[in-house]
Amino acid sequence: WDGQDSSPRDERIFVSVRLRPLNERELSRNDVPEWECINNTTIIFKNGLQERSLSPTAYTFDRVFGPQNPTRQVYEEAAKKIALSVLSGMNSSIFAYGQTSSGKTYTMSGITEYAVADIYDYIEKHRERAFVLKFSAMEIYNEVVKDLLSFDGTPLRLLDDPVRGTVVEKLTEVTLRDYSHLKELLSICEAQRKIGETTLNEMSSRSHQILCLTVESEARKYFSAENSSSLTATVNFVDLAGSERASQTSSAGMRLKEGCHINRSLLTLGTVIRKLSKGRNGHIPYRDSKLTRILQHSLGGNARTAVICTMSPAHSHVEQSRSTLVFASCAK
Ligand code: ADP
Ligand code: MG
Repeated sequence: WDGQDSSPRDERIFVSVRLRPLNERELSRNDVPEWECINNTTIIFKNGLQERSLSPTAYTFDRVFGPQNPTRQVYEEAAKKIALSVLSGMNSSIFAYGQTSSGKTYTMSGITEYAVADIYDYIEKHRERAFVLKFSAMEIYNEVVKDLLSFDGTPLRLLDDPVRGTVVEKLTEVTLRDYSHLKELLSICEAQRKIGETTLNEMSSRSHQILCLTVESEARKYFSAENSSSLTATVNFVDLAGSERASQTSSAGMRLKEGCHINRSLLTLGTVIRKLSKGRNGHIPYRDSKLTRILQHSLGGNARTAVICTMSPAHSHVEQSRSTLVFASCAK
């Protein structure tokens, strides 16, 4: 990886799909796989020929991963370049989108660890610059933002800073000592999310988790002035709420009904990504949800975005999987 960004504007959203293996529960009820990756970019609905009503039957993306592809490979081919652009001063976001139990957390937690390990590796090899890494973590549930590194559970407010844009007031930001320090913090976040799960039913399927890693760097004095610029950028690892509650409304393009219990942040993110993928003209409704306000500077503009859509291959989830593919197609 050479740290250069040569992508044209319209290639700044990289969309991939990850099809997981059938799980124990699906196997135990004799569920069968309905989807298959036929090459690196195309996934098909295997029974498409029989069930003509369910069309299209083939979907093409920047990359598709099948049940045999490990997270390491998903990271290398669908996230690494975008995550590591933080080292050259570019903001980026990596999203996992999909229905509950499709593999979002499994995929995103692996990707986060690989990316941070690679960032530390890069720092080791580039002693000519001094790096500072800062980490923060939050959760958005029902449009309420909470700090995953603080134990008091107070909702955090979003403020509009004239210089920095939207900032999350009082969000804990920890300066990382090393890679193992990050692992410690990640386990705190995981524990915090688990607490939520037992007190509030299915909380993790309705909440978004955003992990933010900010990289600041500066050339050390000893070296030539050529490389003296200082750089600051953030990469966000976003494990989204389960798509099942938003999908009917968003894929049909229906207007939101008042009082209808949907996930505003997820729907707005879908709209923002769709608009960005079609070109950057016109109004982008970043301000319509907490998630998109927080991520505004890491979406669009010069920022790079990876969307990894996870899905179950099971017959019993065909409709949800199809709506995930429709979402992914719109993001492209
Ligand atoms: P989600 O976060 O979308 O609700 P999880 O990441 O928790 O889903 O995955 C649900 C279950 O499936 C977990 O037990 C996880 O370990 C397993 N799983 C998900 N993706 C894969 C995969 N690609 N390979 C093997 N197991 C997987
Ligand atoms: Mg999860």
